[in-house]
Amino acid sequence: MPVPVSQMWTVASYVLKQRFQGRRRYPLVLMLEPLFRCNLACAGCGKIQYPAHILKANLSPEECFRAVDECGAPMVSIPGGEPLMQARFAARLFAAAKGMGVHTAIETNGFYGGRLSDAELADIDLVILDMKGFSPEQHKRVTAGIDNSEVFEFARRLAALKRPMWLRYVLVPGLTDVDEEIAQVAAFGASLGVVERAEILPFHQMGRFKWEKLGLEYTLASTTPPSDDVVANALGIFRAAGLNAF
Ligand code: SF4
Repeated sequence: MPVPVSQMWTVASYVLKQRFQGRRRYPLVLMLEPLFRCNLACAGCGKIQYPAHILKANLSPEECFRAVDECGAPMVSIPGGEPLMQARFAARLFAAAKGMGVHTAIETNGFYGGRLSDAELADIDLVILDMKGFSPEQHKRVTAGIDNSEVFEFARRLAALKRPMWLRYVLVPGLTDVDEEIAQVAAFGASLGVVERAEILPFHQMGRFKWEKLGLEYTLASTTPPSDDVVANALGIFRAAGLNAF
């Protein structure tokens, strides 16, 4: 995970300390996945296709606190699934991490952002918001029928609270490579005034085997990764809106 400007100093101090102590290898970010479940079912998602007994498994708060402590990395990030399906758990974990002097990040689709109070959001140094589309129709198309009004509400609330944010946009040929949608997501992100970075994630087929193993219908079987030109076009749209896009 690249490092936001606001965390540079802490990370630089940590790296210098490791080098001073002669360590050549050391952790920088702990990616903690307490659960794999998600409230959405995006086409082609490679993260949540597991048998039920794995989806029902959770790490305990104590296991997570211990992992943060033992790892010693200056940053902890909770990706998903959707971490805010367990918002109380995430809030406890972030508060504990901040108490240990560890920077915090969450990767979320934003749907359950309203489950965190303003004080709990203050314990999250970086929100990485995964936007699926701008129009409700497109969002429903990508997520198997889920509306996105809560996502906008959460993003605007983060902006009002001046919380640093990154935007993520998964580029899937034939599904999300729609210039108008990308332009509206980019314009919305730029209007917030707190988006430090926008990331385009090109679609890949690495999750396909999970769908096939579980006998699920995989609708993107014939979809290929976007070409360099398609990725460059999307990056150009984000940059034209005034965002740092990578
Ligand atoms: S929001 Fe992310 S984890 Fe959830 S289904 Fe969509 S791609 Fe998968």
